[in-house]
Amino acid sequence: MSDFSNVGLLPQLVTQVNNLGYEQATPIQLAAIPVILSGKDIMAGAQTGTGKTAAFGLPIIQFCLQTPLSDNAKTHSNTVRALILTPTRELAQQVHRNIEQYANETSLNIQIAYGGVSLTPQIAKLRKGADILIATPGRLIDLMYKKVIHLGHLTHLVFDEADRMLDMGFIDDIKRILKQLPTTRQTMMFSATFDDAIFKLSKQLLVEPELIEVDARNTAAQTVEQVIYNVDADRKRELVSHLIGAKNWQQVLIFVRTKQGADELAKEMCKDGVNAKAIHGDKSQGRRESTLADFKVGKVRALVATDVAARGLDIQDLQYVINYELPHIAEDYIHRIGRTGRAGNQGMALSLMSEEENWLLEEIEVLLDSRIPQQWLPGYEPDLTKARTTSRKNTKTAQARRAKQRGRGRR
Ligand code: AMP
Repeated sequence: MSDFSNVGLLPQLVTQVNNLGYEQATPIQLAAIPVILSGKDIMAGAQTGTGKTAAFGLPIIQFCLQTPLSDNAKTHSNTVRALILTPTRELAQQVHRNIEQYANETSLNIQIAYGGVSLTPQIAKLRKGADILIATPGRLIDLMYKKVIHLGHLTHLVFDEADRMLDMGFIDDIKRILKQLPTTRQTMMFSATFDDAIFKLSKQLLVEPELIEVDARNTAAQTVEQVIYNVDADRKRELVSHLIGAKNWQQVLIFVRTKQGADELAKEMCKDGVNAKAIHGDKSQGRRESTLADFKVGKVRALVATDVAARGLDIQDLQYVINYELPHIAEDYIHRIGRTGRAGNQGMALSLMSEEENWLLEEIEVLLDSRIPQQWLPGYEPDLTKARTTSRKNTKTAQARRAKQRGRGRR
């Protein structure tokens, strides 16, 4: 790490980040800021929690401060200069919060737009356009078609967590948005993981991009210690409450695969005396925000989340992530454990794995290209007689699944 004064930022922005307590630039900031300032397109592989928001946010702010709006752009009072697209509203809010902090001492107009809430207040706020707009694709399209905003003079476009955007099926929305944008612009793609779909998208979007990779591809943050506990599926709930209680963990994010599973687990944990709440896509925006706020201040000890709901959560100093179930998409494992060990802090990611989930672990380990240590916890050892029968069945299922995947190519 090195300080922010060597990356080409205006002194006022260096002072601003220093005031926020950022003493040293993170590797992605060191690598990306000079390239973005030079005007080049970039494709960046950065884990969540590496400081990527400042990596793209600061150069965009600097551009807006240094470059007056063109006369053509001025003819549209609702012009948007820079657009940051995020897959989820939580991530949009987090990016918005950060960018506002970075631009705090400036008069730049920073706006946000996401779905699930009334359109009217967002329309009112966007009447004068925005220097920087952070938006989720669906809501942006609503605003675009209603001609609330003018994107014809956009200069900067960022795709944040591009891999998740594709996973969530936003490709058609993205194409619709691109049609409204000028072809001459600076485009930046950030993604925690790379695969063929991402490369294909990058070919359509980016012009001679510089590839910036600070971590080896598809690797989990080095600051997160990972461990797997082998346990029978029907004893997981008991084990999770035991771990939290016995180790006196005060703030734990727990991942499950389904919304219903999240609700059930939170309810059961409350019965075990652990104050837990669920967060997922069926909860209203207001409920999600208040639950998250309670978790952040320690009123809720365990937050049980689905992958989509947890995307973009930035909880400073979160130390523990528990995978109650391994994810079906191996890349989600990286996103999940990236909620901890942020900005250089240490974190711990525990996965509770039953015999039926062995094949999921195999896929994760292939993606990580490393093995995760496995342990049995005294008192929670898996029942091997039970495991062997299911194991044979699941090996067959896993083999069939892999054959199918090979057939259609991964994704
Ligand atoms: P991000 O990857 O952008 O979500 O950032 C993760 C967290 O790191 C956020 O809470 C940021 O406020 C924080 N952060 C970003 N850059 C730095 C830095 N250079 N030094 C310390 N913290 C940082």
